[in-house]
Order: sequence, then structure tokens, then C-alpha cells
Amino acid sequence: MSELIKRTMYCGKPRLSDEGKTVRLNGWVQRSRRLGRLIFCDLRDKTGVVQIVFDEELPSDVFAAAETLRSEFVIGIEGVCRERESKNPELSTGDVEIRAERIEIYSVAETPPIYVRDDDNVSEELRMKYRYLDLRKLRMQRNLVFRHEVCRVTRAFFSDCGFVEIETPMLIRPTPEGARDYLVPSRVNNGNFYALPQSPQMYKQLLMASGADRYFQIARCFRDEDLRADRQPEFTQIDLEMSFVDVDDVIAVQEAYIKALLKETLEIDIEIPFPRFTYDEAMTRFGTDKPDTRFGLELVDIGDIAEGCAFSVFADAVRTGGSVRGLCVPGGAAAYSRKETDRLADIAKNYGAKGLAWIKLTEDGVSSPLGKFFSDEEMAALVSAFGACAGDLILIVADKDKTVFAALDRLRVSVAEKLGLIDESRYDFLWVTEFPLFETDEESGGYKAMHHPFTMPDPRDVAGLESDPASVRALAYDIVLNGTEIGGGSIRIHDRELQNRMFETLGLSEDDIRSKFGFLLDAFRYGVPPHGGLAYGLDRLVMLLLGEDSIRETMAFPKNQAAEDPVSGAPGEATPEQLAELGLALWKR
Ligand code: ASP
Repeated sequence: MSELIKRTMYCGKPRLSDEGKTVRLNGWVQRSRRLGRLIFCDLRDKTGVVQIVFDEELPSDVFAAAETLRSEFVIGIEGVCRERESKNPELSTGDVEIRAERIEIYSVAETPPIYVRDDDNVSEELRMKYRYLDLRKLRMQRNLVFRHEVCRVTRAFFSDCGFVEIETPMLIRPTPEGARDYLVPSRVNNGNFYALPQSPQMYKQLLMASGADRYFQIARCFRDEDLRADRQPEFTQIDLEMSFVDVDDVIAVQEAYIKALLKETLEIDIEIPFPRFTYDEAMTRFGTDKPDTRFGLELVDIGDIAEGCAFSVFADAVRTGGSVRGLCVPGGAAAYSRKETDRLADIAKNYGAKGLAWIKLTEDGVSSPLGKFFSDEEMAALVSAFGACAGDLILIVADKDKTVFAALDRLRVSVAEKLGLIDESRYDFLWVTEFPLFETDEESGGYKAMHHPFTMPDPRDVAGLESDPASVRALAYDIVLNGTEIGGGSIRIHDRELQNRMFETLGLSEDDIRSKFGFLLDAFRYGVPPHGGLAYGLDRLVMLLLGEDSIRETMAFPKNQAAEDPVSGAPGEATPEQLAELGLALWKR
């Protein structure tokens, strides 16, 4: 058994001011090399790397032990901090080295299957399989610590504002968020299942009925969705709810929170209040309900010009209830060759558009496939609608609104990226409010709640709940950072009659209502305050603040695209005994 050399300092900490001090360090060998009579070893822990030197004047057993060192051995050393002859400006400890006097080898290591180096670009698959090695990288350690900092500041902030963290159950009845539930079979109640929470939604509303007044929770949530894009089956929400509040109250607390969070974690001062856009404004100006306002390229509606024009694609789009919109790319005429404009058209097509019309304004005049359909005056009117001038490129899409917005949103971002219009140092937070209460359910053709069925309709529209559901706005809001939604919530319905009208419009049967939400509605019979709240996606928030491009970089043990844990191999099989106890038989597919 090796003796423990008890640490007096972390590896990333020694500085010139420690010169002459005896220090004890513990960590992993990053690499070790012999140069003549010296052995140099880079020792790493979560805080950084420092150079250790062993020389032949040491007692022979110490030097012999140092000679055996290989990458990822875990050791303790004691030595004296001294100034380095050739300094390494890349390392925080690069001015010094530790001349070792004592060493203990706690554990040897086989050759690791991935390098523990931030600049190693091994496949993600291997990184995930050997996550415990991947996490040793300083970048990953920094990310985990940063995530912890976000949680610490979050807990402190909300606690100071009178919120109480209350845990809600993990084994529950299905939640109303609308994704597929993870089910857990009940042994005691054979044939019955719990759901893992998609969010603490109903419990936090119960807590408001219970008088908790201000609740928050850093809560694990589960959604069994196909893992397209950057989703995870289990993820974390910063979830909160407040009683006796309106939209402005919820927003004000969140703005103060975000301000404190950025100050304390990144030392960045951001201005509050954040801009607010109604859903309609966000869509018409940016084509999306999560606009990135770090750059312009706003959309222009040219429906009135398109309506009577000779180009049938444009005229038909307006006539059939769609629209014709576009955006002007300043300086785009030179930046986009013919081939590159074709690539933009492909992007538009990927988002469902039938094509992309373009107009290039050069010093020699206008060049555009639209030329033959538009008189000079009409073309001049088009160009002026976009405020375009020589050198600019105009991109136009005509289709159903949904397609026009989706295509232009994507084009806007693609153009901004190519032309370097995005200021990466900016943190543009904003609110989107007045969302539609309902959206059309593609499967059933009926309505479904855009947020969830407890969201309060805007009192200005509530009369149309039955007659014109599509036009009813919700007291719902999203918070967006640099074009990504980081959170969303709403004021809730606390009136039974209104709640029933909502369920009716959603086409829910009495049975459905009772079995899914009965307990919440029962609770509301005994006095419930007006309330509202919101939840942030913690993983995404941390990702954006760190400047990472995947939420997997912010989680210790993420799942892969097949919803498996590559380290443990979960999910695994159940034994026949376990299945029997649960009263389950398997249908092998
Ligand atoms: N439960 C909601 C969600 O997960 C958030 C909220 O309405 O508070 O999106």
C-alpha cells in the first residue's frame, strides 16, 4: 500500500510567488519523458497541469519509481517549487516547476484508448464510451464546474428572492407536456405504470394551491423523443412558479436572475429589461419565434407588390392565403456567385419552399430571373421596398406563411454566418410574448395546446375560445438567447370553468380529463391563487454561456443518439424473475 502524500496545493496553482516552498500535489500523469539525467513529468488535476522534475541525485528508489511513470498513472509527489529555466506561457503554472523529492504511485494505468488532451479530436463515440477519461480533460472539468456555478448562483438568487426549493416526485402520472413518457412498471400494482416526469408542471401548480407562494427546483425531466438534433432523453430544468403574479411580475424576476447569473458566472454586465417581441412581430420581422437579434437582415413583406404581378408563383401565393417575403443582403451581390445563390435555393427547398427568387443589384443595373415578369417600374418598387442599393442581393420566397418563415429564417442565419455578421461576443436576450394558445395537431387535424393546457388565454381573446380558437393568444412567454429558446412559461388557468372550456376546445373527453388531470382540478376546488411560472433548460443555458455547441458538452454522462448510456450500456435487459414480479411478458420485436 502506498502512503498518502496529502495534497497542500492543486496542480494548476503553483506560481513564482511560491518559489522555495515545499508543496505536495496529487494527480494524473499527463506525460512523462526522460532527458539525460532528468525525468520531466506533467502532472494534471482538474485545475491544470504543472511540470515536475526528477533528477538522478534523488534517492535511487524515488528516481526508479519516476522512471516507471506512464500517462494516466495516479501519483502523489512532494517537492520544492522553483523558477523554470524555459518558461511555458501556455500553462498557468508555466513560470515554475516542482523539483520532486518524494513520490507515491497510487495506481498504474493501461494505455488509455483516448488521449486526455483538450485538442484531441477523437470520435464522439469513443469520447462517450470512455467518458470517465474524456471528463479528465481540463475543458470538460471547466464545463462541469461552470454548470455547478450556474446552479449555485441560481439557488442563491431564487432563495434570496423568497423562493423555496421543493422536490417533486419522479414516479408520477403522465405530465401534460405532450412528448412521449418514459414508463416505469409498478410491482405492487401489477399492470399499472408510473411515468417519469416530463416536467414538474402539475406538482408545481399543486404547490401553489398548497400555499408555497414561490417555488423553484433544479429538476431532472424525461422525454422519450427521437433524438434528432441536440436533445437528451433526460435533461434538467430550472423550474419555478409564483402565486399572485401577472406576466410582468414573472418577467421582472427572471430578468434580475439572468443579470445576476451573467455577472456572477461570466463577469458580464447585461442591460435589463430585455426587448419584448410579440409572437406576430417576431415571426414577421425574423420568420421565427426565437430570433437572433445580433444581426439585422429583417424580413420584408412584399405581398402588395406581388399580388397583382405577372409572376404567377408570387400572385398565387398571395391569392391562396400565403405570402411573399424576402430579405436584403447588403453587399450580397458580390458575396454570392451564381453557384452560391443556387446553394441558398437548396436551403430554401430543404425547408419546404418550391424555390428562391433573387435580385442582384450591380453597378450595371438589376439582374434577376424575375426580370421578365416585372416592368421597370415594378422592379424599382420591389427594390425600394427592401431599401436595397447597388451591391445588394435580395432573396424572396413565396409560399404558405409557415414555409416562407421557415425558409427565410434559415436563409437569414446562413447569410449572417457566411458574411460574418454575427458578433459572437454579444448576449442578446429577449422575450417573445403573446403566443397563440393553440396550434393545429398535424395528426388529428384538431387543436393542441401550443404550450400546455393549463396556459391562460389572453383575456382580450377569451370570448373566441370556441368560435375562433386559432386567433386566441396566450399569456405565454419564451426567453431567447442569441436565437435559441432557453426557457418558457405562462400564467396558468386557475378558474375551473375556463379550464373546462379549454379542455373542450382541445377535444378532451371527460374520462381523459379525469384520468390525466383530475387530481389537479380537484385541488383547484378548494381555493387556488392566480399563478404562473416558467422553466429554463439548464443544459442549453449552460451550453450557450460556455460557447459550446452541444448540450452533451455540459452533462457528465449524456446518452447517445440511440438513447443509450455508452458507459454503462443502459438500457439493459430485465431478468425473467424481474419480469414475472412485474407481471410483464416481453414481445420481442
Ligand atoms: N412546464 C413547462 C415546460 O416544461 C414550463 C412552464 O410552463 O413552467 O415547458
